[in-house]
Order: sequence, then C-alpha cells, then structure tokens
Amino acid sequence: MSASRPAAAAERVLAIPAGTTCAEAVAAAGLPMTGPDAIVVVRGQDGALRDLSWIPDADAQVEPVPMSSPAGLTVLRHSAAHVLAQAVQDLHAEAKLGIGPPIEDGFYYDFDVPRPFQSEDLERIEGRMREIIKSGQKFRRRVFPSLDAARAELAGEPYKLELVGLKGEVDPGEVMEVGGRELTIYDNVDSRTGEVRWSDLCRGPHLPSTRLIPAVKLTRNAAAYWRGNEKNPQLQRIYGTAWPTRDALRDYLRMLAEAAKRDHRRIGEDLDLFAFSKEVGRGLPLWLPNGTIVRDELEEWARQTERRLGYQRVATPHIAQQDLYYLSGHLPYYTDDLYSPIDIEGEKYYLRPMNCPHHHMVYKARPHSYRDLPYKLAEHGTVYRFERSGQLHGLMRTRGFTQNDAHIYCTYDQAKDQFLEVMRMHDDYYRALGIAGFYMVLALRDPANKDKYHDDAQMWETSERITREAMEESRIPYVEELGGAAHYGPKVDFVIRAVTGKEFAASTNQVDFYTPQRFGLTYHDSDGTEKPVAVIHRAPLGSHERFVAHLTEHYAGAFPVWLAPEQIRIIPVVDELLGYAEEVRAALVDAGLRADVDTSDGRLPGKVRSAVTRKIPLIAVVGKREAEQRSVTVRYRSGEEIPMPLTEFVEQGAELVATKSLAGAGHLRPDAEA
Ligand SMILES: [Zn+2]
Ligand SMILES: [Zn+2]
Repeated sequence: MSASRPAAAAERVLAIPAGTTCAEAVAAAGLPMTGPDAIVVVRGQDGALRDLSWIPDADAQVEPVPMSSPAGLTVLRHSAAHVLAQAVQDLHAEAKLGIGPPIEDGFYYDFDVPRPFQSEDLERIEGRMREIIKSGQKFRRRVFPSLDAARAELAGEPYKLELVGLKGEVDPGEVMEVGGRELTIYDNVDSRTGEVRWSDLCRGPHLPSTRLIPAVKLTRNAAAYWRGNEKNPQLQRIYGTAWPTRDALRDYLRMLAEAAKRDHRRIGEDLDLFAFSKEVGRGLPLWLPNGTIVRDELEEWARQTERRLGYQRVATPHIAQQDLYYLSGHLPYYTDDLYSPIDIEGEKYYLRPMNCPHHHMVYKARPHSYRDLPYKLAEHGTVYRFERSGQLHGLMRTRGFTQNDAHIYCTYDQAKDQFLEVMRMHDDYYRALGIAGFYMVLALRDPANKDKYHDDAQMWETSERITREAMEESRIPYVEELGGAAHYGPKVDFVIRAVTGKEFAASTNQVDFYTPQRFGLTYHDSDGTEKPVAVIHRAPLGSHERFVAHLTEHYAGAFPVWLAPEQIRIIPVVDELLGYAEEVRAALVDAGLRADVDTSDGRLPGKVRSAVTRKIPLIAVVGKREAEQRSVTVRYRSGEEIPMPLTEFVEQGAELVATKSLAGAGHLRPDAEA
C-alpha cells in the first residue's frame, strides 16, 4: 500500500559496466553502503533482485535498492533467517533445515529437531546470531553445476533434497530455496580467513555481509508441519524480526506488546465474549452471552440505519441446491471455497459461501417495476467458507461467519448515487466507533489476464467509471490496485488501520452489472421494456466475527457504554444495603440499561477491582449516605468518582447509550492516552 515514487527511482538508475560488480558501481556512485539506507541489492531491468556481487556479462542498467525500502527489508529479513539457521546448527548440530522465508515484518526458519525449542534455547540462539553478525561473514553465491552435485552436497539435509526434487513446483513466495533459473547455494564466508562457515540452498539474493544486519530479535517459536501438510513431519519454527535501526526494532517490539495486550483471543477469554469447543469443531465460534450482546447491539444499529435508508429485511437458508451455485459460477470455478456437498434425497446441497445468490432469488421471486427501484434487501446472513485449520485465527479467521450483508438492486443511472450512499454509511459507522484510520482500495481487473475476468470490455469500463466517480465524491482517501477485482467487477475494500498499526480489510463492496445478466434480474421500465438491473454488494460492518474481533482489539476490551456487555456494576458497601442496590438496578434496567449488583462476599476495594478488570464502564457504589439520599457515587473508567442523585445517574447512563458516546472507551493509541 506504500506509495511508489517512479520519478525518484528513474533518477537513480545505475549503469554497471560489463565485467564489474554492482558493489563497485554503487561505491563509485557514492551511494551509502552502510547504515539504514545502505544499498543492499539491485533490481535488474527484468525486475529480478540481484546480489551486489553480481557481474553482468554486458553493460547493464540497474536500480539500487536501499535496505529501508520494502524490497530491501525483505532481503534484510531473509538474510537474518540464514544467520538464524546457522546459529541453530552451530548449537544443535542434529537440526535439519526446513524453509526460511521472509514474512511481513520479519522472517522464520523451520527445523527438524528432537525436542521443541525452549525460551532459553532462543536466548542462546540469539546470542550466537549476534556473534555471527559481528564477525561480518560474507554471503557468497555458488551455482550447482548439476542436479546430482546439489543432491550430493545436500545429502544430510532431507528437506532441502526434497525441495531440489520439487524445483519448479513450489510457491516462490514462500520457498526461497529454489525457483530461480539456476540452482544455487549461498556460502557464509569468514571475512578474514575466507573459510566457508556454513551454506544453505537458496536462490537469493542476500545482504553482502552479515555485519549489515543492524537490529534483530527472535520473537517466538511454534510447531509447523513440513510444507503445511498435517501428514508431514512436525517441525519447530522460530520467528524473528529485523530492522534497519535499533529504534525501528524497539518501536516494532512495543507495537507487538501492545498487540498482545489487545489480542481479541485473550480479551475474549477474559471477558467471556466467545469460546471454541472441540466437539463443535475448529473455526466455529460459540458466542457466549457477553459476546452476543456486542453482536446484537451492532446488528440493531445496522437495522436502524438500514431502515432509515429504505432497506427491507429478508431471511434465507444457509444451504442451497447445487444449481444455484452453477448459476452463480461458484461451481465449478470457486470450489476451493466450498465444503463438500450434502446429499439430500439424491440432490447435492452446499453450505453457502455467500448470501448473494439467495438474495438474487428473492429479487426474482416477484416481478419489479422501475418504481420499486432501488430495491434494497438486507440480511445478517451466515456463510461458510473453507479455511485450512492452520489459517484459523480466533474470530478473525473462522469457517462460518455472519455478514452485515445487503444487495441493492437499481437502474444503471441510480448505481453511482447508491454506491456513494454505501460509502457514506461506512464513513458514518467508522466515525461513530472512533475508527479514524481507514481508506479504500479500488481493486481493478488486469486487462491482460483474460482468464480471471469476464470479457465484456464495455461493462468493465462502465462499472469502473461509476465506482471511481462515487469514490471521488465520497472524499474518503483511496488507492488503486491492478488485478484484485472479482471475476464480475471491480471491488472496493475498506481497509482499517488498527491502533497497533496493523491493517485489515473490513468490508468489500461492488457495483456489479454482470451477475444480474447471468441471473436474469430485470425490471419493467417506464417505456414498457424489460431492462437488467445493476446490483450493489455491500457489508459495511463486515462480518460479526471479524468486526467484533477488531472492535475488541480497538477498544482493548474497554467497549463504549452502548456496546459494553455489562454497562453498570452496582456495589453495596455493606450487605444491609442490598435492598437499595436492587432498587438502583431496577431503575437502571427500566431505563434500558444493563446493570448488575455485586452480591459477592469481600471488601469494597476488591469488588471495585473486579469490576475494573471486567472493563465495566460505570461502577455505582452505594453506602448508607447514598441510600438515605437516594443517590449513587459513580466511578468512571478514568478513576474519577462523582456522587449524584440516582435520577441523574439514570439519565446520564441513558444519554451515554443513546448518543453512542465514546467517553472512556479504550480506542486511543497508547501513546495518546497520557
Ligand atoms: Zn537465502
Ligand atoms: Zn453479494
């Protein structure tokens, strides 16, 4: 998502005379060779990254790539993965090597070892990595003269041998080992003696020297199956991160700590929001009563908003007969998303991966006139999509989820305004929730890729134009991305930047002219002719699962009053005041608030602490004086305590809910809280 700077890049083309190294040309041009902006690799005119030791046969033009650039960071992190593997084999000679690719913000390496690594192991390995980095080993590329030569040299590394055999069949994004034009190995060479210290099958490129790794840290370890397949041996994976400066590493580790504190899986457990059960199955969350409150509040908000904008609710089944999915194109093109069919009296039914086909059938169930349009059908619809167990992640990635879905059927002329209304809806929702960092991604088709997209060029042009015009008018910032469109049209993703800096796509929206033609979705126009409708797909609040996961992290569990499962905890100072506490509760509940009385044994400070731990936004303490005066002492999340008449407190609570106030919610950046 980073902005590219083609002008700046063009200025920095470097000429490499035939027979000389890129490193020489970089030095001659006076470009930095140390520090965070050091040139670490070059990009050839074919787009491939090459080591600085590369010597072109003929004069060449290359683009110098600094460490701090996205490609440079990848090279830094992957080089650090080599250092990790070398350190592991220095300390655990029996370890066999799996793969070691760069990943977002870091790297990992998989090892086959007799017992899982412990945290002391990681500390020792990190210490050994520091020694290797300091010794300034050079990365030296060597081409295997033949497959047999590679096999002979790698005889002791069964997993690498397997990769050599698979050359050409692996995902080059994940597997760095093979996939280049030649089969290569990189030797780590002692900078003083020239001795080879360690070698690894790899297509490269790497930093010129380990000394260029400025800041590295091992973050965690986990078990991982070889090549992601449960039938394969289980390996031990070590994750690490590397950055161009110590400050950048420190900031990143601080962000990781904040993310861990806000992890929705942990908070979900602590606040009893949701659970998983082995018997129900993986990736199928159970919403506990507290989580269900959050979900219901969001759903009610969406219903009110949609009612105001003229939507109508529908309810449709979770499964459908296979013909529907042949019509939608899910069969046979998107079978990867689908679970195996269910046989009902000889007919095949599928769990639905999307609500759209059902809604189209609702539209089709009755004839429509131009006077009915726009016709807006809404449903919090549950869908099921295949996810590998290794990909499941709390509520963020599940096998079944319920979307804030709707489809707007309208004339082509209405499409732009309708789409704009959808964008404003996102804007309103996000602002109300205190979500400040968001933008849109317009995913367009790649016209060169004829297989992936329908070939009605006119239709693409119209839908792209309408989409772009609506986006411009919305004034919400956006970026364009070539090649990410759906088969049937461009899509607009809303991407939210979390408090921790992570980004995720919260909802996908589309103007679609293609599907209505496949489904025969038409209306009778004023001139008596039958015309195809346009359909807008939208889900501003995404799925309950992902959205509640995000909100839990966004607020660090400290939900605003209107979303908080328990809004008010009433604490009587002594048991004799239980009667008055119940009266307070009844008054609050009558005003539509969720309040409970703490009837447990124990002393006041402990009870307050327990309510604070549960992130309850309002605590009402009632003592003798409060009972006599028919008042409460309210303790807010800020720690402030204010006595007030009960009637005033009831009004205040109702007001906080009615205005969806963000007072006291935990959505501010940690450094902005002070
Ligand atoms: Zn490598
Ligand atoms: Zn849809």
